[in-house]
Amino acid sequence: MDYVIETRNLVKSYKGKSAVDGVNIHVKKGEIYGFAGPNGAGKSTVMKMLLNLTQPDSGEVLLWDEKIEDGSFECLKRIGSIIENPYFYEKITGRQNLELHCEYMGFHNKGRVDEVLQTVGLHDIEGKAVSHYSMGMKQRLAIGRAILTRPELLILDEPINALDPEGIREMRALFRRINRECGTTVLISSHILSEVEQIADTVGIIQSGKLLKEIAMADIHKYQTDYIELEVEDIRRAGYLLEHDMGISDFKVISESMIEIYDLTKAVKEISAVLVRNDVGIIGIGKKQGSLEDYFFQVLG
Ligand code: ADP
Repeated sequence: MDYVIETRNLVKSYKGKSAVDGVNIHVKKGEIYGFAGPNGAGKSTVMKMLLNLTQPDSGEVLLWDEKIEDGSFECLKRIGSIIENPYFYEKITGRQNLELHCEYMGFHNKGRVDEVLQTVGLHDIEGKAVSHYSMGMKQRLAIGRAILTRPELLILDEPINALDPEGIREMRALFRRINRECGTTVLISSHILSEVEQIADTVGIIQSGKLLKEIAMADIHKYQTDYIELEVEDIRRAGYLLEHDMGISDFKVISESMIEIYDLTKAVKEISAVLVRNDVGIIGIGKKQGSLEDYFFQVLG
């Protein structure tokens, strides 16, 4: 298999407390890999080890099949990244920060800084010093810096944390576009499972330093059971009719008005007809597919 990133039994502790415990991840060339898990799960620590910013206690990191060691800096030039809170020179402008980064990386392309400022939506405030940027603006600048040199691999640690919903949508579309149009491999972490679900081709689920599962999103959807979500005015009566009139026993009352039906032997139309015939007001009914969040809790048992 053509992996851009592979880790073998990565282990890291801080002051005797385990942060990463035997992690094996496999990121294929050209895919978007979502690294999902709650805060403190070990995502940033793994990413720092990938970028040679932190040394593992044991285990190996391979980038493009090459083992990363203390002095491996060459392949890091092929990577754009955001790790934890990005730092900038605060007294100079966003544009100047990007120009400095180009110089540092030995990347020469006059039009690229303009292009990137436009792409991340900072072109009209480019004269402002970074110290006057909001959190969201800094996050956009960090994304701009990560993509500036057109890297083959993007490693993005919670890149959308500080953005508003519109900004999140824009940046998600941007990552997808870079991936599809330029073939850039993307490793992106988030504690928000619905975010990972919307963008990832493969997902790695990490908790308490352990990788619990690594699976293609398509496979999650294949094996996930569909269910019918039913919202009604009279939940007791609806429950009674499901069980006694329709012979459905596999359902769960989720709230005062919501029922999830896992037994799919009766069609939505049929269930609606019985409820209407018995004067139970239906607020909503429809088939649903389990989310990554459902799958996550299934994996956790
Ligand atoms: P995540 O990125 O999933 O939120 P982290 O990798 O940041 O998780 O953290 C994993 C664990 O390691 C946490 O318990 C965190 O407190 C601990 N940790 C991370 N960095 C350090 C550090 N520099 N010193 C001590 N503990 C750390």
